[in-house]
Amino acid sequence: MNNSFLARIAIAAALAAGLQAPATAQGIGIFNNIIRQQQLPSAPASLGNLLAPAAGNRGAAGGELIQLLMQSVDHVDEAHEIEIGRQLAAVLLGSKPLHPDMALQRYVNRLGRWISLQSARPQLPWTFGVLNDPGVNAFAAPGGYVFVTKGLVDRVDEAELAGILAHEITHVTDKHHLQALRTKARAGLATQAIGSQLNSNLGGAVSAQLLALGKDLYSSGLDQGDEFAADRNGVTLAARAGFDPYGLPSVLQQLRSAAPDNPLFSLSLRTHPAPQLRLDQLELAMGNRLDAYAGKPAVPLSQRLVGR
Ligand SMILES: [Zn+2]
Repeated sequence: MNNSFLARIAIAAALAAGLQAPATAQGIGIFNNIIRQQQLPSAPASLGNLLAPAAGNRGAAGGELIQLLMQSVDHVDEAHEIEIGRQLAAVLLGSKPLHPDMALQRYVNRLGRWISLQSARPQLPWTFGVLNDPGVNAFAAPGGYVFVTKGLVDRVDEAELAGILAHEITHVTDKHHLQALRTKARAGLATQAIGSQLNSNLGGAVSAQLLALGKDLYSSGLDQGDEFAADRNGVTLAARAGFDPYGLPSVLQQLRSAAPDNPLFSLSLRTHPAPQLRLDQLELAMGNRLDAYAGKPAVPLSQRLVGR
């Protein structure tokens, strides 16, 4: 992996290292206090650890990771899962850099880390980043990497952003990307990818195979069933973290009204089931069970970013 990719991941990891919220704390009030009080260290001590390949996994080649994946997702232990995610995060950061607004990056990290603490896998080295991209999209990679685009952030309030982050966090905790990579690898894409090795501009450290699988995955999207599951479980996770559960449905309504040929929305719409279908599935799953958690006043992101 070359230095500019590592530097970009370093920034995201440094931002993620800033939040140490108590895992037992519940509720939006506490989250608000964290947002107000938390001071980020200027140079997190844990940065090196977050960037280095996981212990016992130093130098794991992409080919080896794919061999593990081809056997079974269950063969991929957490250290290898994080290493796969680190390499895929480099793919994402290679196409779009992080947005330079550091206050925004810190805020999204605090929000994402808070939600991830309520998830099934709070111990992962969760890292969040805002990509400098006017398009409207969100991505995740195994091991705890989550990215949202600036175009998305500009269009949502806090509960809506929390809904999107919770959806992506669920993809990670349920290993949806690992399952999709395994399916693609077994379908033979890994073999074809060897031919593209000479074209890799990542210095050879990132496996050409994993790079090709990752690029294919992020341009084609995940299994539709996994998307519906991430919507369902993401809504529940957002509610557990103290946010209005209708945040995610609200974003889906925005997506529904977007013209399919609008280039800002086209990738997101192409890689996910139709927004109306997602809303229908959510309604089936949620009914009115989460209405008691709804109706919180909307918090514009600008309110969170004042003075930061
Ligand atoms: Zn998704």
